[in-house]
Amino acid sequence: MHCSPLLARLSALSIDYPAAVILGTAQDAGYPSAGCQRDCCRRARLDPALARHPASLAIIDAEGGRWLVDCTPHFPQQLAMLDELLPVDAEAPGLRGIFLTHAHIGHYTGLMQLGREVLGTAGLPVYCMPGLRRFLLDNGPWNQLVRIGNIELRELKAGRAVGLPGMLSVEPLPVPHRAEYSETVAFILSGVSHRLLYLPDIDSWEGLDPSIDRLLSEVDIALLDGTFFSGEELPGRNMGEIPHPTVEHSMRRFSGLPELIREKIHFFHLNHTNPLLNAQSPELARLYKLGYRLARQGAVLPLQ
Ligand SMILES: [Zn+2]
Ligand SMILES: [Zn+2]
Repeated sequence: MHCSPLLARLSALSIDYPAAVILGTAQDAGYPSAGCQRDCCRRARLDPALARHPASLAIIDAEGGRWLVDCTPHFPQQLAMLDELLPVDAEAPGLRGIFLTHAHIGHYTGLMQLGREVLGTAGLPVYCMPGLRRFLLDNGPWNQLVRIGNIELRELKAGRAVGLPGMLSVEPLPVPHRAEYSETVAFILSGVSHRLLYLPDIDSWEGLDPSIDRLLSEVDIALLDGTFFSGEELPGRNMGEIPHPTVEHSMRRFSGLPELIREKIHFFHLNHTNPLLNAQSPELARLYKLGYRLARQGAVLPLQ
C-alpha cells in the first residue's frame, strides 16, 4: 500500500488506522450555548478549554482518506482540529464523504461550508436516508449545493452497509426521534475486528430494533445519547417536547448488564446544562463509579 505522509504521521503518533476521531461531544448547540448566562456556560466562556463542539466523528480510512459522521455548525473548527491532529498535504486525500444522521441543526448545517462561498467541493458524496435526502433537495440553501455540484447525495438504506477503503463499513440504523424534517439514524462503524456505535439522538431506548442491549453486546464502543443528566435540567421548558432518555434513566436501565458491557458505554451529545460537562461534579464521579464513561473530544478510537 502507498504510504502517504499522513499515514506516516499516524504511525509516528502510534495511532492504528483505520480509526475514528471524536470531533465533538456536546448537543447540537455546542458548549457554551448562545445566550446562556448561567454558571454552566459562563465557566466555559472564561476557560475555552472547557468548550465542546457538537457531536461528530471523523473516520480515517486505510488510505488516510477522511470521512465525517454528521456535519455540525462547528465544522470549520472541527476540520481545523482534525488538520492539527493529522495534517493534510498534497498527497493526503482530503474529505471523501459525509454521513448524516438527521436534519436537526447540530447534525447537518455545517454543509453550508461546502458551497462556493467556502470550500467549493466538487461532487463530495453525502450519504443520507430518503427523508433527509428529500429535505435537502426541497430546501435552500442545501439544494444549491446539489444543483451546482458541490455535493452528490447518496441514498442510504436501513441495514445496508456502505463500504469504505480498508475493509471498513458504515451501516445506518433507524432510531426513534422527533421527525420534524427527517427520519433519524444511528451508525454502526465496522472494521475487521472493531465496531463502534454512534447514536447521538434517540427519544427512548424502547422501539430500537435490534434492541440496545443486543447492540451493546455486538460493538466495542457505544457513543450514546447523554443529552440531559436528569429530568430537572430545563426549568420552565417542557422536556416532553424534547424527549431523550436521561443519563440517570440510562444508567438505571443498563445497571443489570455485566461491567464488561457497561464500560463500552460512552455518553455524549451533552446539553450545556448537563453536570457531566463539569469535571468536578458529583454526577460525573457517580457515572464513573457505576462503570460508565464519558466520550472525550479529540479521542482516537480504533477501527481496524
Ligand atoms: Zn442532536
Ligand atoms: Zn435531534
